[in-house]
Amino acid sequence: MLVSKLLLPTLREVPAEAEVVSHQLLVRAGFIRKSAAGVYTLLPLAWRVVKKIENIIREEMDSRDGQEIMMPIIQPAELWQESGRWDVYGPELFRFKDRHGRDFCLGPTHEEIITDLVRGEVRSYKQLPLLLYQIQNKYRDERRPRFGLMRGREFIMKDLYSFDRDEDGLEITYQKMFDAYTRIFSRCGLRFRPVEADSGAIGGSDTHEFMVLAESGEAVVVYCPSDSCGYAANDEKAESPVEIEVGQQDQRPLSRVETPGTRTVEQVTEFLGISPKKLIKTIFYQTEKGLVAALVRGDRDINEVKLKKEVGSLELELANPQRVEEVTGSSVGFVGPIGIKDTLLVVDQEVAGLVNAVAGANQVDNHLVDINPGRDFSLDRTADIRLVKAGDPCPLCGKALLEARGIEVGQVFKLGTKYSSALNAVYSDQNGQELPIVMGCYGIGVTRTMAASIEQNNDENGIVWPVSIAPYQVVVIPVNIKNIDQQTMASRVYNKLLATGIEAVMDDRDERPGVKFKDADLVGYPVRVTVGGKAVSSGMLEVSIRKKGDIEMIAEDEIVRMISDFINKESS
Ligand code: ATP
Ligand code: MG
Repeated sequence: MLVSKLLLPTLREVPAEAEVVSHQLLVRAGFIRKSAAGVYTLLPLAWRVVKKIENIIREEMDSRDGQEIMMPIIQPAELWQESGRWDVYGPELFRFKDRHGRDFCLGPTHEEIITDLVRGEVRSYKQLPLLLYQIQNKYRDERRPRFGLMRGREFIMKDLYSFDRDEDGLEITYQKMFDAYTRIFSRCGLRFRPVEADSGAIGGSDTHEFMVLAESGEAVVVYCPSDSCGYAANDEKAESPVEIEVGQQDQRPLSRVETPGTRTVEQVTEFLGISPKKLIKTIFYQTEKGLVAALVRGDRDINEVKLKKEVGSLELELANPQRVEEVTGSSVGFVGPIGIKDTLLVVDQEVAGLVNAVAGANQVDNHLVDINPGRDFSLDRTADIRLVKAGDPCPLCGKALLEARGIEVGQVFKLGTKYSSALNAVYSDQNGQELPIVMGCYGIGVTRTMAASIEQNNDENGIVWPVSIAPYQVVVIPVNIKNIDQQTMASRVYNKLLATGIEAVMDDRDERPGVKFKDADLVGYPVRVTVGGKAVSSGMLEVSIRKKGDIEMIAEDEIVRMISDFINKESS
């Protein structure tokens, strides 16, 4: 392809609204343009990258007996009502009516559609296992679409669904997909980590997320530094052993003390001269099931995902201060678990074990001391609701955990029979007995993977594509296109590269060399071949590898072999 003909609108300025580097570079390097919040057109180079990622995915799915299909984006509400998700999916679901007033949605995921398909087509154990997948646009009306392709409202996803006879079969399929994902993200040149995750709204039991490690990641990953242990989890899911106070203490009688102006953990603990581990923090949440007061130690934060699960609620947000005053008779900063009305008390396991602790007295400028959980308030709802952080002990080996930020590029779920039971997708086993099909689902964000790759592969000059997913592998730059000798030599090299099957472009634009070099770095072609005056006289061309940045002089005859070797080495 000639660059003069390419739709490749590069920009010098960093777009104002782009917060993360992948978004900035995708816009600046002429890969994407925005239509609406979280909705983008992929220009020719972005589309080439997407197709490369998709092909890597296809190879790994197909070689593991995945069969590609294409399901509809438009989904009837009836199926979602049958699974029970029409009412629980919330505002993320793009809903609409057809001209007859019937309800539909745009597919954010396809468990309902595929389970409906399979219940119609699969009868016997002989047809299982069955693995079906598609690569397609998905629609989610995200609360905060942002970071360009990272969190879109329309994005490309690969979703595979597996159907097995039983849990053992699912285990094998799950492992197969886990291995496939490891291959896919390695082949895409990403540094990533699979982590245990929470199963969220999709439901099911075991699940792992594949996290690309990057500072800009929205997720926090907690992991064990010991390679032999290998524990790693999304912080929404991470667990750590309960810290138990050492030394026996006798319970003292409860009393109230004045603590004027001490609203924060720091102020109270300093005023009373106690450790934050002795303070009980009481945080109020509004849920659709009513008000919830969550209790964690002063040095802890609440894990809202765990809390939501414990309460069994769909919505959970901090209660507003007026509501807190209504039930406590006090104001935030002095609230505590004793004597509150109309509120479900959820107590973290560590709080349950405290002796002679401190909490708000539900009276401004007052705290209670020598509170004893169980004696002074109910422990009926005790659960793990704390957020694990760096430094907490690993649940498997006890070593201090570390933290990193990650971008979730893929997730694998064991769904079990959640959807097959709801939609009555059954098969007959060898004895003719009807059983629900055991399912799994496995997603990869294709467009997000492209963005995540840029987050990891860039420098101050632009994108540094891994060869395996680069839009083109080589750019040939004649320094002065008006010079016939340079033009002839550049075309010769360019055509030889094409003839060998190497994906090359030639920057034939009548631009200053500086402009072409800047664009080449910005776009991120892995290899650049420069044809200037010296090349014509000496027969030696400048070849530069984007990743390394240095320049090598290579004889014209050697160029194709040298570049082929480089590409093969990088892609293996
Ligand atoms: P997140 O927690 O980031 O919202 P999710 O867990 O809801 O994602 P899944 O339902 O697991 O997402 O979807 C499978 C994959 O699709 C994700 O691993 C991610 O790579 C991608 N994905 C999900 N939402 C978006 C989005 N809004 N924009 C781009 N890619 C997305
Ligand atoms: Mg997910």
